[in-house]
Amino acid sequence: MLIQNAWLQGSLVDVRVDAIVQAIAPRLNAMPNETVLDAGGGEILPGLHDHHIHLFAAAAAQGSVSCNVSAGSLAKCREALVERLANVPGSGWIRGVDYHEQQLGVLDRWQLDELCPHRPLRIQHRSGKLWVCNSMAVQALDLGAFAHLDSVQGDACGQPTGCIVRDDALMARQLDAIGASTTPDMAAFSRQLASLGIVAVTDTSATNTQQSAADLQRLHQDGVLLQQVSLMGDDSLEEGYLKVLLDEDRLPALEKLVARINAARSRGRNIAFHCVTHLELVFALAALTEAAPIEQGFDRIEHGAVIEDAMADELAARNLPVITQPGFLYSKGDQYRADLQQRELQCLYRYAGLSARGVTVVASSDAPYGPVSPWQNIATAACRCSAGGVLLGAHERVSSDQALTGYLTPSAMLDQSRTLMQARKVRLGMRGDLCILQKRWAQGRDRPETVGVRATLIGGSVAFDSAH
Ligand SMILES: [Zn+2]
Repeated sequence: MLIQNAWLQGSLVDVRVDAIVQAIAPRLNAMPNETVLDAGGGEILPGLHDHHIHLFAAAAAQGSVSCNVSAGSLAKCREALVERLANVPGSGWIRGVDYHEQQLGVLDRWQLDELCPHRPLRIQHRSGKLWVCNSMAVQALDLGAFAHLDSVQGDACGQPTGCIVRDDALMARQLDAIGASTTPDMAAFSRQLASLGIVAVTDTSATNTQQSAADLQRLHQDGVLLQQVSLMGDDSLEEGYLKVLLDEDRLPALEKLVARINAARSRGRNIAFHCVTHLELVFALAALTEAAPIEQGFDRIEHGAVIEDAMADELAARNLPVITQPGFLYSKGDQYRADLQQRELQCLYRYAGLSARGVTVVASSDAPYGPVSPWQNIATAACRCSAGGVLLGAHERVSSDQALTGYLTPSAMLDQSRTLMQARKVRLGMRGDLCILQKRWAQGRDRPETVGVRATLIGGSVAFDSAH
């Protein structure tokens, strides 16, 4: 197809593209029957990569009840949620997401029974770590039979409290067994990603198995999931990163983790560590020190919400990029301000400070737990303002160009994204994965959240066209 009137490196060009970019010139004439897309002078960029996302959870979240209720007091918040739950159409299971104890208090099955006694209900904590089920859900899922598992919380009498910690696999298996699993609308979510200019994603779910890999591949082949997917996952995968979840209150034995790392290394897999806190990061680095050395590529640190200077130096020396989520400052910043000390607030999700010490920092969404829009996330990396307008760590601001750079960098090159900062532009011979903006980047970079996507191409096919 032919893209006309696109802004590329300071001038208007036409771009001919199929699976790869075939021609770039000031003027190209359309061939007979060639589809023409008028870019209207908008910037043409390589398509965007979201380097940290959870596809199935994000697609499922679209059909879920948001438990994010900022209605004031705990009683008011609960009242608001009761109303939302009562308004869910149909009968049967209700899936809630984005629950936070600051709003609703610490929940268990009995508390949920008060909010929703008549339908099986499960709600997910906003961190993604925890599910809470009401009593109908506890019974339907037969959680009592799994009381021996660490992930299934019990009370003093050994009765399940309805809380399942870090065990989405158990939830999925049990829902499946009783025929209550739902198929998330991946097509709709994929279209949403395309409308944001996203052509590729890294699914970072630790629960990804060979089955997930096969499911995603099938969705991609069937044209349901338009984006290219790099997959991380559990120990069973033959390739892709091993995702290691570290929770500081339940760290594994170091030698066990080292054995997992070595087993992954023996398959040529590298490691991505979920590290939010300082202690989690210390533990990850200790495990890497003990484990077999990396052979090629790079390991990754996901989130890195708290990284002190000394740790930053260590990450830079070990060539470990940090995949950060500025969007959390936007969506959760107001809550952070209520929960954390001023000193902690100043150094959450650092960006400029890490970069200055030589760490590669790459912005991503962590959707559905953070905002999915790259433009919102880039805007927040540049302003560090919460949705409520609170400024969090002004000295960690970066330019919107710097935050965009990571999104323009393919996943295999993340460790070099700093040196590619100016480099990755649309050029001849690159894959036909393109994002055309509604305006020139120079006109939008001060307000990236307003820039708008004109069209997105994946493999030379139109995945999104704002005119349709
Ligand atoms: Zn994540």
